[in-house]
Amino acid sequence: THAPVITVDGPSGAGKGTLCMLLAEKLGWNLLDSGAIYRVLALAAIHHGVDIESEDALVPLAAHLDVQFVAEGELVKVILEGEDVSDTLRTEEVGNTASKVAALPRVREALLRRQRAFSEAPGLVADGRDMGTVVFPGAEVKIFLDASAEERATRRMNQLQKKGLDVNFGSLLSEIQERDYRDRNRAVAPLRPADDALVLDSTELSIEQVLEKVLAHIDAKL
Ligand code: C5P
Repeated sequence: THAPVITVDGPSGAGKGTLCMLLAEKLGWNLLDSGAIYRVLALAAIHHGVDIESEDALVPLAAHLDVQFVAEGELVKVILEGEDVSDTLRTEEVGNTASKVAALPRVREALLRRQRAFSEAPGLVADGRDMGTVVFPGAEVKIFLDASAEERATRRMNQLQKKGLDVNFGSLLSEIQERDYRDRNRAVAPLRPADDALVLDSTELSIEQVLEKVLAHIDAKL
């Protein structure tokens, strides 16, 4: 039994998370936030004092990661070894560490099966960097959502300010650029659009406009 898959790839802050949440809700499908898995691994490594440059130490940690995703209304709580880590997971420090561990080939390999297990009826919306190229190459619909680094840093800054956090635009922008560089230039599963992906630049689009374009594309494909 094969469940249909929609993949949404792109750099951090392009709006994939919101788009995927809306799509999953609208279609009544399952949702995979693959970035959260890399973030959880990064956090587990930090907690256990595992050297984030040691592939040998990270692979068993990745293979035995004790993580649960618990839907709570519209939100998904992430439970690592029994502890709710949903908030800690979203910090720039964890995101940056995640992109370092994500560059290690055997770490990615160890997380493949866990990601593919999310593909269940009636369908899956998969959010990440290599969903359409590596994890679900046979996906029915593939989207690559991009936006300029400046626009992504601005969106991130607005999000953080809404939470009452004081942030510096310049350092946000350089963190985003650093993470992009690492994600696009790594040897294994680099960030790039699949050959059969619809590439959308959301720099000048609202989330409603992005959703409208994506829904039209899904209608044409499914
Ligand atoms: O999407 P998010 O910012 O949560 O992802 C954190 C990091 O995890 C990314 O910068 C990327 O390096 C890595 N990642 C990945 N492959 C995915 C999802 C995330 O390499 N499918």
